[in-house]
Amino acid sequence: MKIPESIIEGAEVLAGAPVADEIKREVKEEVARLAREHGVRPCLVVVRVGEDPASAVYVNSKVRTSEELGLHSEHHALPSETTEAELLELIAGLNARDDVDGILVQLPLPHAIDEARVLEAIDPSKDVDGFHPMNVGRLSLGQNVIAPCTPAGIVELLERSQVELSGARACIVGRSHIVGKPLAQLLLQRDATVTICHSRTRDLAGVTREADILVAAIGRAGFIRGEHIKPGATVIDVGINRVTDEAAARELFGDEADKRLETIARRGATIVGDVHPAEARRVAGKLTPVPGGVGLLTVAMLMKNTVAAAKRRRGL
Ligand code: NDP
Repeated sequence: MKIPESIIEGAEVLAGAPVADEIKREVKEEVARLAREHGVRPCLVVVRVGEDPASAVYVNSKVRTSEELGLHSEHHALPSETTEAELLELIAGLNARDDVDGILVQLPLPHAIDEARVLEAIDPSKDVDGFHPMNVGRLSLGQNVIAPCTPAGIVELLERSQVELSGARACIVGRSHIVGKPLAQLLLQRDATVTICHSRTRDLAGVTREADILVAAIGRAGFIRGEHIKPGATVIDVGINRVTDEAAARELFGDEADKRLETIARRGATIVGDVHPAEARRVAGKLTPVPGGVGLLTVAMLMKNTVAAAKRRRGL
């Protein structure tokens, strides 16, 4: 029997690209329909402050994808000296503009600016990142709100890959406002039994090994090892970590390290998730790759959220 390409050493690869492409195709069709039937073109405004190179890459990809799907997009790149008052004034202006449907302030902001204050200043109906306290509260009440893009993308990936959520034991390692907590709410809404772990969790491996669905959102390369994973579990790797050391790459990727070593030689680093890839491949049933997994869904979900905000704001 021919082994499908998606099966590597037991774990099936849950690639983000086919799901992200499907979501983008649906968004593009919906954008075209809104234009045709209602004369509406959803508009996303992305605001970036300072010179963080990673933020610049993320913002460019968001703007480029909006244009590809037919949304209108506006990009404000502000200097790092921008004051909180200036940023709040810009947001107030965007809140007041009827043509603006979504406002995204790229994080992190420079230290002198209070992130929480800025996020609270965004009109909740235009908060396409889902970080406004009003939307966080509504999400925890189980209401149908615009949910943060990364967790919402993880749920789309699981559902569209036919991973059973109802009744499943899900364990999320990481309790951030951006990933861990909102994901817990979304999985609870879908009747999973959810556990959240963090740096103070005792016997982490004992807890994570109970999970049918294990999500790692920690920010430490290869932290989740084979011993953390229940055999056959679905493992979602949210982490984005730069590994520059060749020995570390060899240890993480085992037989498949060659390509990573080439990337380090060419670009100075390779991107690695929070899950140890060589060990997880042997134990997990399904595993998202890094890169090429969850990250691709985040931008697709931002587009979906912007269209949803446009429709809701306009009563469509
Ligand atoms: P945060 O730094 O906000 O949170 C990390 C979490 O991991 C914390 O809750 C922390 O616990 C927990 N943690 C740290 N060390 C341990 C440990 N030894 N054992 C158990 N838990 C631990 O990270 P984010 O949620 O913002 O991001 C997590 C990762 O996901 C990063 O690599 C980030 O780059 C990536 N990411 C990827 C996205 C994508 O689109 N693919 C989007 C967003 C993030 P405690 O709370 O106790 O400190």
